[in-house]
Amino acid sequence: MLTIHQFPCLNDNYGYLVHDTTSLQTVAIDTPDADVYLAEAAARDWHISAIWNTHWHPDHAGGNLKIKAATDCQIIGPAGEAEKIPGLDRAVRGGESVPLGDHMARVLDVPGHTLGHIAYHLPQDQVAFVGDAVFALGCGRVFEGTPEMMWRSLRAIKALPPETLLYCAHEYTQANARFAETIEPENDRLQAYIREIDARRARGDWTVPMRLQRELDTNPFLRADQPGLQAAMGCPGDAVATFAEVRGRKDRF
Ligand SMILES: [Zn+2]
Repeated sequence: MLTIHQFPCLNDNYGYLVHDTTSLQTVAIDTPDADVYLAEAAARDWHISAIWNTHWHPDHAGGNLKIKAATDCQIIGPAGEAEKIPGLDRAVRGGESVPLGDHMARVLDVPGHTLGHIAYHLPQDQVAFVGDAVFALGCGRVFEGTPEMMWRSLRAIKALPPETLLYCAHEYTQANARFAETIEPENDRLQAYIREIDARRARGDWTVPMRLQRELDTNPFLRADQPGLQAAMGCPGDAVATFAEVRGRKDRF
């Protein structure tokens, strides 16, 4: 069995340690803060055996070298930005598999936020670690790629089994919700989701991870292929242009 330990890091990042109770191996998903990761692992008597990086940004790979120095772990990260990942031991691309004990993570190429961004999908466990590719009711800013590239990446995430739990890297949900309701004000599922999000945040609870099915029903960035949304954005029949329009509005929101 896998145990996923989630904890806040930096301002609004989430850290994840994934522990396999059979092999006793532990994977750090990204490394926003080495000290916090090492302390969280030590508190559970877990030894970090590997780091799986999603992309090169410092709030994702900045703790790599310190954790490696403390644990001698293996660092796995995106081949597309290998030279930017500190301490990288194994560069992987979409379609490759990465083991955690008997569990296998399938690597997905999800470029756009950065050019080499990858995600890790564990099909048996119905979870995916998506970094900054997709957030609850949001998606990453398209810093290095194009809207077309990012939309293709979101389609790859949309194609995962809908029961998949998505573990993203930031708690941006409430701000994303304020934006999402301007895009699809008539979406009842979105309104219900927003009420739940606001209640959770009022209690100080997290909104991550999130179920893919719910995002398919409510996340405007994942819904650029919906005719109603395309019409509302003035781009009928064009998912890429619709995605670009929604992304542009969010960037200015
Ligand atoms: Zn990033």
